Amino acid sequence: MQTLSLLQIAPTVAEFFRVYLNSQASPVEQILAFAYSRKPVPKVMVLVVIDSLDYRFYTDFADDLRDIHELVRLDGLLFECETVSRHTTPAIGSILTGLKPEVHGILTNDDVGKSKIKSILEILDEEGQKTAVAIETKGAEPLWGRISYVFAVDDREDIFEYDELIKTHTISVLKKQDLRLAFSHLRAIDRFAHRGRDLSVAAKVTDENIMAIANAVGERKGLLLICGDHEAHLMDRKGSHGSVTVPLIVCCP
Ligand SMILES: [Zn+2]
Repeated sequence: MQTLSLLQIAPTVAEFFRVYLNSQASPVEQILAFAYSRKPVPKVMVLVVIDSLDYRFYTDFADDLRDIHELVRLDGLLFECETVSRHTTPAIGSILTGLKPEVHGILTNDDVGKSKIKSILEILDEEGQKTAVAIETKGAEPLWGRISYVFAVDDREDIFEYDELIKTHTISVLKKQDLRLAFSHLRAIDRFAHRGRDLSVAAKVTDENIMAIANAVGERKGLLLICGDHEAHLMDRKGSHGSVTVPLIVCCP
């Protein structure tokens, strides 16, 4: 399997929608060929980041993530992507800009909204191709008025309730016929990892949420991209060496 970088996602999206993005990373030709080979060619794309879904987690919890694995098996692409950070905010900044964290400068929550660099969401929306986010309130606030559809979900103790809201907003915005790209972020696995709770439970719930989103993407004959953001911070997995990869799944559900 070809190893990519998370930096290649934004350039691939930009190339697909034919907008200019300033990134050194190259678009993934296989993904573009996959998308363009569909009939009709998808008009809408949904990118879901599953927090802390690294490649090892994806394979170790394959039973709990079986519907996601099935999306790949039926008609999908699976890649391993090198990560760019051990933390969520800089990683998502890189996924959405195609730039390394030291270049986009969004390292903590306080930096969100201060970066002069535009995300692929803002670039597309400025070009009249409407975009949406369903993310945590602090990340969403800077995007108010800058992209067409912003769904802010307050952080909370009940992370399943949080993910449920993210899922519901993602599905509802897919009803907008002018939508071209939606981005959302599911967090249950990351929360359970940090709290030392049963990861199998979080993986199963995440699998269900992805399938609900996949069904909605399927109804729109859209393209679904699913990826992780960084390595899982697991208590019993200290001392992992070498480069960590996360899965990137591309499918037309
Ligand atoms: Zn994260």
